[in-house]
Amino acid sequence: MSQQLNRRILLAARPHGDPKVSDFDVTEVPVPVPGDGQVLIRNVLVSLDPYNRIIMGNANSDQPPIEIGDPMFGFTIAVVEQSNNPAFAVGDHVGSMSGWQDYALSDGSDLRPIDPKTAPLSANLGVLGMTGLTAWVGLTKIIEPKPGGTLLVTAAAGAVGSAATQIGKLRGYRVVGVAGGPEKSRHLLEDLGLDAAVDYKAPDFAAQLARAVPDGIDTVYENVGASMVVALLPHLNLRAQIAVGGVMSAITATKSPGGPDRLPDLMRAVLYKDLTIRGFSVPDYFDSYPELLAELAPAVADGKVRYAEHFVEGLEAIPAAFQDMFHGRVTGKMIAKIAKIA
Ligand code: NAP
Repeated sequence: MSQQLNRRILLAARPHGDPKVSDFDVTEVPVPVPGDGQVLIRNVLVSLDPYNRIIMGNANSDQPPIEIGDPMFGFTIAVVEQSNNPAFAVGDHVGSMSGWQDYALSDGSDLRPIDPKTAPLSANLGVLGMTGLTAWVGLTKIIEPKPGGTLLVTAAAGAVGSAATQIGKLRGYRVVGVAGGPEKSRHLLEDLGLDAAVDYKAPDFAAQLARAVPDGIDTVYENVGASMVVALLPHLNLRAQIAVGGVMSAITATKSPGGPDRLPDLMRAVLYKDLTIRGFSVPDYFDSYPELLAELAPAVADGKVRYAEHFVEGLEAIPAAFQDMFHGRVTGKMIAKIAKIA
C-alpha cells in the first residue's frame, strides 16, 4: 500500500511588497503518526488572512516572521482522523492553527471543538472564527460600545470589516461601510444590508462620505490606515471612538507613502474632539470566543448576520490565490477548500 503523504506549503523566500507564487514551496512528507495523548487531524478548510503576509517577513509589523523553510502558519477547520486523546473522537470537527497543510498532530490544547450543526463549517473561519472575533473584540473590548449612533467601518467588504458591519447592525447602530469600487458598494447595501456605502476609489469619495454620515461618526472600526483616517477626521463627532484593527494599506508597503504630514491634523482632532483611538491584537483575546459565539452564533443561525465567502479549490491553489487579497479582488472571507467535507 502506498504511504499517505502530507502536502505542506513552506515559506521559500521573503517577499518585497506583495506576496508572489515563487515565495512558496509545496512539499510532501509522510503523514505523521500520533503519539500518546495526541490526535492526527486532517485539514479540510484553510483560512487565508493578511497576517499570512505579515509572518512572511519584510512587512510593516512588529510581529516576528517565521523562518525560511517553515510551514505557513494559519487557521483551519479539520477533522480528527486518529485519536490517542480521550477528549477527541475520530470524526470530530475542530478549529486549529495547523497552517497550510493536509495533516497535523496536536495534543489537543490548540484545538477548538466545532459543532457542524450550529453553522456551516466555513463560518467558523469567518464570522464565527478568528475573523469575527477580531471585529467583535474591536467593538466590544477595545472601545466602549455605545449603540445608537453611526458606526463607520473601513474595508467593510473584507472579512473582518464585513463582520464588524454585522455586529454593528445587530447592536442597533446606523452602519456605514467604506470599500473600493461600485460593486463593493452594491454588496454593502444589498447583500450586507448596510445603511450607506462609500466608494473610496470614486472621484467623489469626499462628497459620498459627507452624504453618508449626515450626523457625523460616533464609532469607527478601522482596517486600512492613515490615508483613510485623515478623510474621516472632519466627520468625527465629539468623543468619537476608533478601534484600530488593521492597517491593510501599509502591510506590504516598502517605503513611507510621503505626501503632506497629516499628523498635526490627527493630534488636533484627538485633543479638541476628545477622541479615543485604540489598537489591539486578537490573540490576546482568544479566551473571548465563548462570548463571541453567545452573541453571534444564534444570529448566524437565523440569518440576521450576513456574510460573503470567497472559496478557492485545493491546497496548491493557495499561493496564487493569496496574491488577490492585496489587490482588493476578494469580497468577504477567503477560504481554501483542500479536502472533501465528510
Ligand atoms: P481582507 O478580507 O483581505 O480585507 C481587506 C480589504 O482591505 C481588501 O479587500 C481591500 O478592500 C482593503 N484594502 C486593501 N488595501 C487597501 C488600501 N490600500 N486602502 C484601502 N483599503 C484597502 O482582510 P481581513 O481579514 O478583513 O483583515 C483586515 C485587516 O485586519 C488587515 O489589516 C489585517 O491585518 C487586520 N487583522 C488584525 C487582527 C488583529 O489582531 N488586530 C486580526 C485579524 C486581522 P477594498 O477593495 O475595499 O480596498
